[in-house]
Amino acid sequence: MAPQIKYTKLFIDNEWVDSVSGKTFDTYTPHTGEVIASVAEGDKADVDLAVAAARRAFHRNSEWRLMDASQRGELLRKFADLVERDIQYITELESYNNGMTMSMAPKAMQGSINYIRYFASLADKIQGTTIPSDGEVFSYTLKQPVGVCGLILPWNGPVPMYVNKVCTALAAGCTMVVKPAEQTPLTALYLTALLAEAGVPKGVVNVINGYGETAGVALTHHPQVAKISFTGSLEVGKLIQQAAGTNNLKRVTLELGGKSPLVIMDDADLSIAVPYAAMGVFSNQGQMCIAASRLFVHSKIYDKFVEAAIKFAKSIKMGNPADPTTQHGPQIDELMMKKVLNYIETGKKEGAKLVLGGKRVGTKGFYIEPAIFTDVTDDMTIAKEEIFGPVQSILKFDTLEEVIDRANETNYGLASGIFTSDINNALQFSKHVESGVCWVNTYLHFCGQNPFGGFKESGIGRESGSNCVDPYLEVKTVTIAQPKKF
Ligand code: NAD
Repeated sequence: MAPQIKYTKLFIDNEWVDSVSGKTFDTYTPHTGEVIASVAEGDKADVDLAVAAARRAFHRNSEWRLMDASQRGELLRKFADLVERDIQYITELESYNNGMTMSMAPKAMQGSINYIRYFASLADKIQGTTIPSDGEVFSYTLKQPVGVCGLILPWNGPVPMYVNKVCTALAAGCTMVVKPAEQTPLTALYLTALLAEAGVPKGVVNVINGYGETAGVALTHHPQVAKISFTGSLEVGKLIQQAAGTNNLKRVTLELGGKSPLVIMDDADLSIAVPYAAMGVFSNQGQMCIAASRLFVHSKIYDKFVEAAIKFAKSIKMGNPADPTTQHGPQIDELMMKKVLNYIETGKKEGAKLVLGGKRVGTKGFYIEPAIFTDVTDDMTIAKEEIFGPVQSILKFDTLEEVIDRANETNYGLASGIFTSDINNALQFSKHVESGVCWVNTYLHFCGQNPFGGFKESGIGRESGSNCVDPYLEVKTVTIAQPKKF
């Protein structure tokens, strides 16, 4: 049975409200493409109200600013407990609105709870330093929340993305306006209701559903927004960076796309390399910024690997994401499905060999069979551009030196991986590959303790990890004159 939808309005000052314009937009389930709810559509007028609420909540005498740091941590722990209480419902809602399979979503939801608890633990560990300054002075630093943050989310992992940004900003003591992706507003709204239940003071977290060109632009151009944290496409990331430069020099954190190389050496244990490589690109139907979308396989084992990769991909069960045995669900929407199918056509035209799948399945919903291309070369479009779909491109290489150079031949630098039984291969590759994350003999391993983010055009800044609150803080140096040294 489809999960009941409880929240569809905007959330400003801890109240559920309609948009100023009264407009709404539809949200769909990618399983059938049918409308599942109509959601209030915010734009500039609503962003202005939400930013004003967030500014009030950031006033020096507000409940939020006067709250002990340990209490902010307590609030986040309470939030984690509430998410845990409602985990079944949230998992089903995420799957319904986003198409994430019910075989994957429970792990993503449990992972999100672990992240919330990790961020909670950071709230009272934000500390300045005392400084041995020159002269007859005493200096120390204060780390203070940057102010009102605009948090702009993508659709491919709505709950983990919300948790990452909102809970880090809360741990830092900021206030915020969240803009969920227009495709997937529902879980963000539900999580916000749980934050209110946990006791977040009014105005601290506000949510404006809406489109990028209206609500998103209003937020990124708002003179009273001090920081933007954005996850999404490179194209929009560049617009956000420009907007920050042309108005009030907002602090910007960007988590953008990738074209991540995964290397399989000839000494790799194929019994683990094959499934990790497959799930590294087919999980969540390939809609992952860290997708292992360039798979480099050593020439000595290329044919054997391809045979095993095809066998594994054939075993992936496709179907309704609500069925817990389903491993492969639909793409998010028709637009993305068509974009992926176009890439598959381009791959064929440019001479790559499609050895498995790659066709649309059915006429309802947005399903594409997992696709495998062999004989892919570095110059082909499918080896260069982010596809964001279930397409495994297998390239051949001969030496580690060669593959390091080729792995780095991209404007992206988000994730990478290597499967090998030689520690020296692992050390050499991980040292020289240009990516923010490198996995050795594993892939897609995540936890709150590990920093995440990209080199090059994959982004600016890091999320999670013990320094993740820093981009939400300003450092203030206080210097006090002393009558004499003592
Ligand atoms: P997108 O950039 O189109 O949209 C992301 C968000 O930005 C949405 O909320 C959208 O409404 C908003 N937006 C769009 N135009 C805007 C504008 N001009 N100003 C302000 N906001 C605007 O991306 P998408 O299609 O939702 O997501 C797919 C992309 O996200 C992929 O490129 C993927 O690699 C990337 N991604 C990166 C990470 C990461 O952590 N690095 C994680 C997930 C997805």
